[in-house]
Amino acid sequence: MKLKDIQNTYHQELDSIYGEEEVNSFFFMLIESFYGVSRIQLAMDSDYAIDDSKEIMDALELLKQQKPIQYIIGETEFNGLPFKVNGHVLIPRPETEELVEWVLKKVDHNKPITILDIGTGSGCIAISLAKNLPNAKVFALDVSAKALKTAKENADLNDVNVEFVEADILTVGHAELVSVSHKFDIIVSNPPYVREKEKRFMKPNVLENEPHLALFVKDENPLLFYEAITQFASSNLSMGGQLFFEINEYLGHDMVDLLNDNNFKNIELKQDIFKKDRMIKG
Ligand code: GLN
Repeated sequence: MKLKDIQNTYHQELDSIYGEEEVNSFFFMLIESFYGVSRIQLAMDSDYAIDDSKEIMDALELLKQQKPIQYIIGETEFNGLPFKVNGHVLIPRPETEELVEWVLKKVDHNKPITILDIGTGSGCIAISLAKNLPNAKVFALDVSAKALKTAKENADLNDVNVEFVEADILTVGHAELVSVSHKFDIIVSNPPYVREKEKRFMKPNVLENEPHLALFVKDENPLLFYEAITQFASSNLSMGGQLFFEINEYLGHDMVDLLNDNNFKNIELKQDIFKKDRMIKG
């Protein structure tokens, strides 16, 4: 079957959901990933045909059901690095790339520092930091064994050493992590922060496909994870150590209060490229 015929069959239906330009780029991503055919090759040979079209047809069907392209392909890019993704881990967001860049700006690249990423998911934060800070020892924690399996695959894929620990930050005992490291120079986290009441603003591609465990918190207690992590950091950061969070854009000031109440100094609240309060450090 000719690729261009397949493309034409699905165009109309998909265009009404995503718009023409995005559908084109999805199509090229799919043929590149499944058949190793680039858009340039296809442009040069518009009659390019494949024997078995099932894979791409199935993928286009999934796109129609609003399954994210990253989950269909099973891979995405974060900070220029490849990451495997599936329904057990969030698809890394550009805002989180900004968080990683911020951490990298604030740390001494030559010191042999110790880093802990809490709620690592795909491992995107921990692995990007390990890749950029070859002298750092990086630990990453997650409550989900399935997420950790993916994170480990991603550490191998990117050829870095990260020590993964399966634990729930809400219940983790001090002892459990003492065996890991006595003190951390950097603690970083992008925990769940979307309040249940914000669900109605979210698109079906996110709501129906991404792990709710990684996204949502109860309206009554939106800072649950931040409180636990801040307390943990109060006793597990080294002298002059730094705590970094990605945050809910509506809770920036509550986060400043939380860090102040826990005696953090040099608190900085930072906006993302969309001018939303998106990260904080202390
Ligand atoms: N920024 C993500 C979203 O809007 C949420 C990430 C999180 O909850 N940590 O879908």
